[in-house]
Amino acid sequence: MAQIDDLPPLREVIATYGLDARKSLGQNFLLDLNLTSRIARSAGDLTNCTVIEVGPGPGGLTRGLLAAGAKRVIAIEKDRRCLPALAEVSAHYDGRLEVIEGDALEIDPQALAPGEEIKIVANLPYNVGTQLLINWITTPEWPPFWSSLTLMFQKEVGERITAAPGTDHYGRLGVLAGWRTHAGQLFDLNPKAFTPPPKVTSTVVHLTPRAEPLPCELKQLAKVTAAAFGQRRKMLRASLKMLAKPAEPYIEAAGLDPTSRAEEVDVAGFVRLANAFAADGL
Ligand code: SAM
Repeated sequence: MAQIDDLPPLREVIATYGLDARKSLGQNFLLDLNLTSRIARSAGDLTNCTVIEVGPGPGGLTRGLLAAGAKRVIAIEKDRRCLPALAEVSAHYDGRLEVIEGDALEIDPQALAPGEEIKIVANLPYNVGTQLLINWITTPEWPPFWSSLTLMFQKEVGERITAAPGTDHYGRLGVLAGWRTHAGQLFDLNPKAFTPPPKVTSTVVHLTPRAEPLPCELKQLAKVTAAAFGQRRKMLRASLKMLAKPAEPYIEAAGLDPTSRAEEVDVAGFVRLANAFAADGL
């Protein structure tokens, strides 16, 4: 196995700093630096970018990113036990790594590197991963502050993010992601790649911002998708009653069939529906 740097192997780092994995922090560590390098490379050229990484843990992916030539990595880690190990990584890579101790849900990522090209790359903790993704793809301003997201999720979440209409996994997350981004799954990781192994397969998802998402307000899009997919087996005319009674005029104004079901409606259809409700101040 090729060495990516002269730092100690991750198993040794974990033993030295006592970083036994905690479930409450979604800690499933990647110890194979060839694999973390592969994830880093799949984010594209990093040499002119500031990479924001959430949850560096013992630093496996962080080292992959730095070895791949990232100009700078800003890593946000909630578990302070990891900080001494990460300080070693920072020293080895000439200070190109900056670590922020804190909760990524409470830190404004836009303020971290103003004016720089930002890519977000992370093996996300499963308990906050979806919320972080939603925050990043629903920023009020568009194009957003990032140029790509390369993120590890549980496979089932990856399926939901990239789902096409008419498929079982298609839902609110797929509509949001499809509205604002081009999203695809790159490759899967066997549970055995992680320490400790999670119960399910993981997948790396890559998202880039759409240059011009169809115009619509997030507020209405969130409302119509929540109502429609909240009762996904019902026809739209029934599931959307909670927004307006009767709902048919809005559904028809959006050019949709009131007897269709949420999973049959594509992103453009949901955008038209959101705009039909918005036109009436709903
Ligand atoms: N990047 C490492 C790797 O690939 O081996 C660790 C990934 S592990 C799945 C998730 C990491 O996120 C853990 O280090 C955990 O402590 C950290 N974490 C959990 N919740 C967090 C939060 N709210 N904000 C920042 N980091 C968090």
